[in-house]
Amino acid sequence: MHLTPALLPRLIQAIDHAIETSAEEVTALDQAIGDGDHVTNLQRGIKALTVQADELARLDWMTAWQKIGMTLMTAVGGASGSLYGTLFVAMSKAARDRSLDLQSFAEIFSSGVEAVKQRGKADAGEKTMLDVLIPVAASLRQDAAESVAIADVLKNVSRTAVTGMESTRDMLATKGRASFLGERSRGHIDAGAKTSQLMICALVDVLAEHLTTPS
Ligand code: ADP
Ligand code: MG
Repeated sequence: MHLTPALLPRLIQAIDHAIETSAEEVTALDQAIGDGDHVTNLQRGIKALTVQADELARLDWMTAWQKIGMTLMTAVGGASGSLYGTLFVAMSKAARDRSLDLQSFAEIFSSGVEAVKQRGKADAGEKTMLDVLIPVAASLRQDAAESVAIADVLKNVSRTAVTGMESTRDMLATKGRASFLGERSRGHIDAGAKTSQLMICALVDVLAEHLTTPS
């Protein structure tokens, strides 16, 4: 599967649709253990990316990820803005002078996730978006190492994202606003984990479709 940033307008549109469709559900999650602004924060960023989509489509991946990261940092706001922004800026840095096969993408994405961990001073098990991002990075690395067929790589990514998102329900929040609630944070899925999962699954759907009918 040869992927260029020409696919970015479709990917951004798919993310926009996925977040729009689940907006109420995610807002309820952020209202339960946060301040309820996560969806509107994210939608500001997605809107900014939509405006830039045609321009992004003409860039190389390294430049596109840098631009996406900067846009998210300035447009999203909230904790998630700097974290999602950091993810893409770090991916851009890691992509320097590299071609984009599964192995290198797995490493590039992992570098991005590592940067999010450092930026948020957080790790797996703290009831954040990292409970989706960390296992997805691991799934990509494992499948790349085992040369798994790309269609199965995509299925594994989706499944891992959903499992990671659901795992946050019973966790105690120790980072972000939800940590202020202590034990009362248990029993609710983390909003950032939910949007990470939704966005990853939306990306996977576009890529899977592109795999069968490249356009
Ligand atoms: P804010 O919490 O500032 O209102 P958002 O509502 O946009 O920002 O984003 C909240 C989400 O950000 C949380 O659901 C969680 O997934 C993620 N998050 C918050 N703090 C951290 C952190 N330190 N590390 C990783 N993710 C975090
Ligand atoms: Mg919030």
